[in-house]
Amino acid sequence: MTRGATPTEADLIRAIAARTRITGRTPRMSLGIGDDCAILRPPRGHELLVTTDFSLETVHFRRDRHTPESAGHRCLARGLSDLAAMGATPLAIFLSLALPPELLRARNGQPAWRDRFLDGLLALARKHRVPLAGGDTAASPATPVPGTTTGLALADIVALGTAPQGRALRRSGARPGDALYVTGALGGAAAELAQLAAHPRRFARLRAPADNSAHPHLFPQPRLTVGQWLAQPGRASACIDVSDGLSTDLHHLCEASHCAAVVEVVRLPIHPLGAATKDGLNLALHGGEDYELLFTAPTSVRIPRRIRGIPVTRIGTIRRPRRNQPIVSLLTLNQQEQPLTARGWEHFRTTPF
Ligand SMILES: [Mg+2]
Repeated sequence: MTRGATPTEADLIRAIAARTRITGRTPRMSLGIGDDCAILRPPRGHELLVTTDFSLETVHFRRDRHTPESAGHRCLARGLSDLAAMGATPLAIFLSLALPPELLRARNGQPAWRDRFLDGLLALARKHRVPLAGGDTAASPATPVPGTTTGLALADIVALGTAPQGRALRRSGARPGDALYVTGALGGAAAELAQLAAHPRRFARLRAPADNSAHPHLFPQPRLTVGQWLAQPGRASACIDVSDGLSTDLHHLCEASHCAAVVEVVRLPIHPLGAATKDGLNLALHGGEDYELLFTAPTSVRIPRRIRGIPVTRIGTIRRPRRNQPIVSLLTLNQQEQPLTARGWEHFRTTPF
């Protein structure tokens, strides 16, 4: 591309194609970017799992708060977390990007927003050995929107995974008497999001943290290896990822399984970032985007305290639904039961944006 010329769609595709060499090829991808379709080769006897997630500027990230690397990382993390929730092994990802012209150009000696976004996305892809196998690009209109000087950046990720036939974990398999568990800690992402909204400049230089657990909002870690462990025969009975908040996602799991559940406050693993605030318990119950796994297993199954290096905590029990009883209850520290209403997503995620 000539210096100063307006980057074209072809330049963007070339830039992405050049970057895919970073993620490398896998035996499961016969053909990647460069033809009309990618050709994938799922293992024999496996099913294909497909999930798609939109990342919209001002809804899922803000250019004045998230670094491009964080926006790229988060875009892929959402898709990979859905694969993790079903115990799938990632096969390939597809990325569609619509960017205003401003984001395609290097500025003030800094790489273009586009390149830094791809840095963040591809670093996570490399970590989980999943190739970027294709996608699409388009120019986003250069019409100013609030908080930007140009049009909006939009990214859509499609993530494909495989699981042995009939083994993928679902939300619908929980049974009364099953124990309820969660990986990692809860409320950290919402706590960090509040910090980000209050002090965006504190995070402006953050590209990729050495300690992944330290930045649960900016760089959430999908629990793929834990999901794969849980999907082995005779382990988890149901699973969902905590994207909208524990209270909301547990309702989803209970509704799909036609069950009720009780969560014990005393057992909840509250993330240190949440625990450092006055609101740690609420953040753990309703704060979204932790991307931990919430799963159930019969009490006869031994679930270790750590799976693939990730802490696992029993937080409650699945039970039979009863008329006049809430679907999800909370057992408080003084042994009182109260309804736990689903107010994850709307309560927290819309506020700081
Ligand atoms: Mg999900």
